[in-house]
Amino acid sequence: MKLFRFLPVVLCAFLLTVQVLAMRVQVGLFTDATHATYTVTARYGSCEVRSRNGMLLRLEENQEVTLEAVSGNVRVKSDGRVYGVFAMVRVHPSAATHQALVADGRFSTGCHDDVIFKVKEVGLLAINVVELEEYVASVVESEIMSGETPEMIKVQAILIRTYVIGNLQRHAKDGFDLCDRVHCQVFNGRDRYQENVRKTVRANQGKVLVGEDGKLILAVYHSNCGGQTSRASDTWSEEVPALQSVVDTFCRSSKHANWSKVLTRSRWEQYLSSKGIDCNDSMVACYDTDSDSLDRICCIMDLQKKVVRKDLDLPSAFFSVTLQDEYAVIAGRGFGHGVGLCQEGASVMAASGVSADDILMYYYCGTKVVKYKPDRKR
Ligand SMILES: [Zn+2]
Ligand SMILES: [Zn+2]
Repeated sequence: MKLFRFLPVVLCAFLLTVQVLAMRVQVGLFTDATHATYTVTARYGSCEVRSRNGMLLRLEENQEVTLEAVSGNVRVKSDGRVYGVFAMVRVHPSAATHQALVADGRFSTGCHDDVIFKVKEVGLLAINVVELEEYVASVVESEIMSGETPEMIKVQAILIRTYVIGNLQRHAKDGFDLCDRVHCQVFNGRDRYQENVRKTVRANQGKVLVGEDGKLILAVYHSNCGGQTSRASDTWSEEVPALQSVVDTFCRSSKHANWSKVLTRSRWEQYLSSKGIDCNDSMVACYDTDSDSLDRICCIMDLQKKVVRKDLDLPSAFFSVTLQDEYAVIAGRGFGHGVGLCQEGASVMAASGVSADDILMYYYCGTKVVKYKPDRKR
């Protein structure tokens, strides 16, 4: 009797898990440039090349096919033979362990899952249709150093999953979900898969981070906050409840904790003049670099530091400037925009035994980790 009472609950949980696992992400490959041609090589086994009407050819290991945009269609050519032109071509690795290596003439991406080729006005598109958790594992690997703890892998997986599900419409007008560049999240396919990353991501599957309103948060993160994260409203002029400023003592000895850049005084004054600022000797440091209580958002005269960061290509907007004889010394902390989770701080916390959920709740105010429900509002 008890079994029957709990059966609907068990069945419901099972179906939800299946639904999340079945989600697929369409990733546009090599989206930083336009392409007229791609080469696909069967690597680690064979691949089938199909049109909408059926199979065109089978590539055995190391065999390749060239796909070219010709008059609005995709021309398929292999071993000197042209197989015809088609509206859409799909390359399908014949087994889970097989891989298609897609190359654009500069780079290549290893794809275990299907790759679709079709012509758009911008050229020939290559789209890898990747199962959600496989995609998450691949991006996690791009984002973390090898040898990270399981808790840090979980932290990164939850953020990437939250970001993906919340941004599936980002490239809708381009014909895919997300691009493979830093604009969305860097995706390098599955070339560098580490088994421990894959296993940890699988064990953590479906988990996302939501705010007090139950909606997926804006899951932004950066390398090193320099000791204090930045409020979203200070960096992007948009108030986001989960993205407040928190003090972070964990990243102060990490790789990107401190940096400096030296300009000649004339170069610095020239820059300020170009921004309409009168130069004089009263430019002083905005903060003491030894202090733990810092003001990230103060200006140099009337010039916002985030503007200086962009103009001078600085690692962060968390810095002071002092004039020393003929030089302007820019001394700063951290790396990145400073909003949301600090990866180097989180890594230290994880290594000292703090759980992934607690780390996330520390950096993102008023949030909690939940299992994603497909009907959850984004
Ligand atoms: Zn993008
Ligand atoms: Zn930090």
